[in-house]
Amino acid sequence: MPVCPTCGSCRTVKNGHIHNGKQRFKCHQCGRQFVEHPTKKVIGQGTRELIERLLLERISLAGIARAAQVSEQWLQTYVNEKYASASKCAGVPQKKGRLTLQCDELWSFVDNKGNKQWVWLALDADTREVVSVYIGA
Ligand SMILES: [Zn+2]
Repeated sequence: MPVCPTCGSCRTVKNGHIHNGKQRFKCHQCGRQFVEHPTKKVIGQGTRELIERLLLERISLAGIARAAQVSEQWLQTYVNEKYASASKCAGVPQKKGRLTLQCDELWSFVDNKGNKQWVWLALDADTREVVSVYIGA
């Protein structure tokens, strides 16, 4: 079953079909109904691969959205799904209620060896609680 685009839960079930015959799913966690691949905006495999590489460069989400020509909103959802499928479904305890992640590089600094360091944070958008941190050169 796909990961819920709203809360990132993997507790989703099939729930009928939409008008054009696409499979619809329902999330047990937050009750949201969704279609796995909305036809409104299809992001190709090439773009997804580009985004994967850009994410590894720890460019801000706004920068990646501009470079890959996708909306920031779509990118946010994509990163949320990636994070959710990478961590939550691997058995990390789930926070109560809705978890909305924001990933962005919060700041950069130059360490005492003169190397520029990036700090990449995944935040809960509601509580501003840091749920994941990556520090890279
Ligand atoms: Zn959900």
